[in-house]
Amino acid sequence: MQKETEVFDLIGRERERQMRGIELIASENFVSDQVLAAMGSVLTNKYAEGYPGHRYYGGCEVVDQVEELARTRLKQLYGAAYVNVQPHSGAQANMAVFMACLQAGDTFLGLNLSHGGHLSHGSPVNFSGLMFHALDYSVKESDGLVDYDELERKARAERPKLIIAGASAYSREWDYARIRKVADEIGAIFMVDMAHPAGLIAAGLLKNPVKYAHIVTSTTHKTLRGPRGGIILMGEDFPNPWGKTTPKGEVKMMSALLDSAVFPGTQGGPLEHVIAAKCVAFGEALQPEFKTYQQQVQKNAAVMAKAFMDKGYNIISGGTDNHCMLVDLRNKYPELTGKVAEKALVAADITTNKNMVPFDSRSPFQTSGLRFGTPAITTRGLKEDKMPEIVELIDRVLQNPDSEANIAAVRAEVNKMMADYPLFAW
Ligand SMILES: *Cc1c(COP(=O)(O)O)cnc(C)c1O
Repeated sequence: MQKETEVFDLIGRERERQMRGIELIASENFVSDQVLAAMGSVLTNKYAEGYPGHRYYGGCEVVDQVEELARTRLKQLYGAAYVNVQPHSGAQANMAVFMACLQAGDTFLGLNLSHGGHLSHGSPVNFSGLMFHALDYSVKESDGLVDYDELERKARAERPKLIIAGASAYSREWDYARIRKVADEIGAIFMVDMAHPAGLIAAGLLKNPVKYAHIVTSTTHKTLRGPRGGIILMGEDFPNPWGKTTPKGEVKMMSALLDSAVFPGTQGGPLEHVIAAKCVAFGEALQPEFKTYQQQVQKNAAVMAKAFMDKGYNIISGGTDNHCMLVDLRNKYPELTGKVAEKALVAADITTNKNMVPFDSRSPFQTSGLRFGTPAITTRGLKEDKMPEIVELIDRVLQNPDSEANIAAVRAEVNKMMADYPLFAW
């Protein structure tokens, strides 16, 4: 076999990029060496369609134990009664829930995408918006908080079969109990997508949605700091309120509906190497150090948000309860788009992403906002004393985003700062 060099050279370059920069993308993190080792293991060689004890292939004795252990740890982490660890990603987990709970064309209600919602909560270019009737609720222009009055009004008027809470760019705690109440009133299923704050929730720093929602979905690679992947959880089993029946005429339990919606409904063979890595990450999240880490994530985010506001930046909702924040650039730099800002910051080795802000006057390609998060830099070991320094570096780039000399000067300081925070053991 010819020795592969091209790909490994590129991987080496990506490793360099991750080491030298300040990683502020709110949905990213750095996994541990043991998570990485499990992901790069021989388990990738195994086909295991089905579930532990009920596979369509032989030789699954070992991967059965891996998947069982992952399920046990995940249940313990969130106090769940049912879990599925097979979804390949967060979007796949959501697709399985749609498949289990709705028929094509059914109505559901989720947070407006330009107000922080996710693609898989009803975007017209995503399966959720293409195959189902998507309605949305907003955040209020006055304070950037979810408009629960509007949510209740729409739920009562339109009677969606599914209500989704959870977001990709929302920095505040949710009132799950209030949403559950209106869901019960209209007989809707309430799903929480905790993809972003899952790690903070596991550490007990935010409310656990498993206690309020019928179904919870998540990614495993954001604050939870595992491999790229998805999961589905339920606090307790319950029958499908619309009485979907099996070919034998039995009412199927939601657990069975969800399992079959993942496989064979929307996926084939599970990625057992990724499930092993999820299992390692759940094990890490059960350790006391994980809580210390998440507390630091939250503290870093609060201090960073305050540092931005002290410099006159507008943070949507005026702060953060979790790991992320959304900066509206319009008052401070009216001419600067999120697109230009992102490009200039990336050139200075500060990685972030442009983001729509609620009631944005610009298009999704330009945007007026930037989203920042602290999970990755906190994993790297940065404490709250560094946050004002980082905000200062960001502000220096944004003051003068067209000057190559300015960007180069900031980049040198960024690289110097990050050299003090080793990232990989190998
Ligand atoms: C990131 C995210 C997802 C999707 O995760 P992928 O693994 O990229 O498919 C789903 N929902 C929310 C709220 C997210 O933030």
